Amino acid sequence: MVSRVIPVDPFDLVIFGGTGDLARRKIFPGLFRRFCSGQMQEEARIIGAARSEMDDAGFREMIADAIREFGGGRACEDGTLEAFLNHVFYEQVDAMGTGGWEALKGRLRSGYVRAFYFSVGPSLFGALAERLRTFGLADDESRVVVEKPFGHDLATARALNKALAEHFDETQIYRIDHYLGKETVQNLMAVRFGNVLFEPLWNAQYVDHIQITVAETVGVGGRGEYYDKSGAMRDMVQNHLMQLLCLIAMEPPARFEPDAVRDEKLKVIRALEPVKPHHIVRGQYDADGDAPSYREDAGDTRSTTESFIAMKCHVSNWRWAGTPIYLRTGKKLRARASEIAVVFKDAPHSIFPEDAGRHRNILTIRLQPNEGMELGVTIKEPGPGGMRLLDVPLDMSFAEALGPDAEEAPDAYERLIMDVIRGNQTLFMRGDEVEAAWAWTDPIIEGWQARGEVPKPYDVGSSGPDDSLMLLHRDGRKWRDIRA
Ligand code: NAP
Repeated sequence: MVSRVIPVDPFDLVIFGGTGDLARRKIFPGLFRRFCSGQMQEEARIIGAARSEMDDAGFREMIADAIREFGGGRACEDGTLEAFLNHVFYEQVDAMGTGGWEALKGRLRSGYVRAFYFSVGPSLFGALAERLRTFGLADDESRVVVEKPFGHDLATARALNKALAEHFDETQIYRIDHYLGKETVQNLMAVRFGNVLFEPLWNAQYVDHIQITVAETVGVGGRGEYYDKSGAMRDMVQNHLMQLLCLIAMEPPARFEPDAVRDEKLKVIRALEPVKPHHIVRGQYDADGDAPSYREDAGDTRSTTESFIAMKCHVSNWRWAGTPIYLRTGKKLRARASEIAVVFKDAPHSIFPEDAGRHRNILTIRLQPNEGMELGVTIKEPGPGGMRLLDVPLDMSFAEALGPDAEEAPDAYERLIMDVIRGNQTLFMRGDEVEAAWAWTDPIIEGWQARGEVPKPYDVGSSGPDDSLMLLHRDGRKWRDIRA
């Protein structure tokens, strides 16, 4: 199968925070891979900007090192890296100051797509937006890309939206949630709305429940102090898991267009019921031999921040009435595995003998590792001995189904940056979506604080606190195993 790479229009892309961790680990390696695939045109220009004193040559060296470390070495060997670096430049700019802006402006050309990536802390978003206008770098066609975290709560998210809206129209603002850039997440929409098979069953009448799990094996490590101010609810649920929930639960949009899709996602968030306190389990990982506990990692022996969360949610509308959606995410769990499982109800009547066994259809959408989908179907166990039923997977691993092209598929950051250049906001969060998500999570967090709730400890390498197992057990259900 031959993949079609359609080059994007020539662009000037400024990356504020160009010397930072995210730029070096994700953004530049991603751009390099898009360059290798032929998606960037000869005129494309990428300009890193930060306070560090550096010239183009020094910055190119830094980026070359980053790409060698994070970007996939194959193409580096044949001169492609050098060719890519010719597109890379650097300007010393302080987001809070006035120096460097005229020089940065001098790097920009007219007639090209112009985008500004704010790969810096959110406290700088307002200052950057203001200076881009004051110094005449941005116009009504320019785009700005902002990173998570988009706010710490509803009030701070509103303030960020307001600061950006003073200088840019909503159609110019691209709020990144890299989960939305994942191939499988988009495939979820293709499967739901491109086939006649699933959508008629995609409702409370046929779906027993849905599980969304994002499990990590790493702890908070060196980010402990930062993480301790947010926790799993703010760091993972409010953005990534809620976005997945929206895509799973939303009504079919009229068109695959940014506002049509985002309107439907917003309706889901607004239809979410407030979560009852006993429908949430929070956890903190314990020490493991010499490996530190969460509290040690966080540098606070009395921290009440959660590194794990499991919760039962209800989307209160006709489609989903009575069908719970369970969310679970945590650090230092059994395996690094993210998946969405749609668990269908039993067939209404079994014609088979009791001892034949009974299986439910489960559609599993794997986000990592090995992106793909699997549909469990019931068949007859082969061989003699009467009718015994067996659950077998119809497995579509993208790597196998699509062959070598699957490996070349852009990762989430690459895809999203190319979408910015194309001017396609479908996979970016709109301001009102982000605010609605905070409006739903804020009361939950405030409730914990008011009740002085302390997370339950859990073993490293486990599936989280036992109480999270009980959350489903009480409903006569079971979490799927966390396995890579
Ligand atoms: P970082 O490593 O601390 O880098 C911050 C960057 O901002 C550096 O390039 C720094 O360079 C620049 N900077 C700081 N103050 C500045 C100022 N006043 N004017 C101009 N540039 C300034 O942070 P990061 O990990 O790259 O994260 C950047 C943003 O992305 C954060 O909001 C973070 O939450 C978010 N994010 C990061 C990741 C990740 O994996 N790292 C993932 C998701 C989201 P100078 O010091 O030279 O100015």
